[in-house]
Amino acid sequence: MIYFPLQDIEAAKLNIDDPDHLRIHSLETFGTHDGPGVRMVVFVQGCQFRCVYCHNPDSIDVKGGMLVEISELVKRAVQQKNYFGAEGGVTVSGGEPLLQRSKLITFFKLLHEQGINTCLDSNGRLNNAEVHELLEYTDILLLDVKHINDEWHHKLTGLSNKTTLELAAYRESTGRPMWLRYVLVPGWTDQPEYIEEWCRHFTNYKTVERVEIISFHQMGRHKWDSMGMIYPLIDTPVPTREQRHQVKAIFKKYFKNIALK
Ligand code: SF4
Repeated sequence: MIYFPLQDIEAAKLNIDDPDHLRIHSLETFGTHDGPGVRMVVFVQGCQFRCVYCHNPDSIDVKGGMLVEISELVKRAVQQKNYFGAEGGVTVSGGEPLLQRSKLITFFKLLHEQGINTCLDSNGRLNNAEVHELLEYTDILLLDVKHINDEWHHKLTGLSNKTTLELAAYRESTGRPMWLRYVLVPGWTDQPEYIEEWCRHFTNYKTVERVEIISFHQMGRHKWDSMGMIYPLIDTPVPTREQRHQVKAIFKKYFKNIALK
């Protein structure tokens, strides 16, 4: 079932047009949910996935959002630098940041010149030389691995998990830090056998500093309604406290640092 209008624009187009501007959805100051410490979070516009639980469906259209000069974003980050403290910095989330990878290389390089920490929150849909270059300038990769089973991943997002798993393996090969994220959705991502498989897949990774379990919520529903789209999870309950802790217990068998959000 298609929930979103599909777009004919190629992913590459966003990457090449207008190299001085990022196409963004919104900007958050003093964010504390996407990476360590206090952060400026840039939510970029455009995504290839069509997640059934997407709480920002208005960030999916690659032609939407607004164009903001990269130099302006750097200026704002520098202005907020005192609030970042030792751990904080700038996170680019989305939408899906890898669609604008070459511009983000420029952005992250400029942030590093200013001594500002960088995090990239990605669904891992692309895995190529440009993405690898971007990861060189990414202090922490926040990688969303939405389902370990490819068939379920398709149902959940519309696309395969292949490149996401490949990108995780690439990051591991570089020895650079990564946090993994898992959205817990009753009836979709709560199958114990698949959570075990997910955990076994990553348990020996040395670069995974933290695993975040993010509970599904219904807060994005009004956006689907206002965009005239069918919200697929209208009848899906949020996970109960017991379910959340049962799932956390599985992750705990495999990872030391788990955050339940
Ligand atoms: S990857 Fe993120 S922005 Fe893209 S559809 Fe999924 S939840 Fe929405």
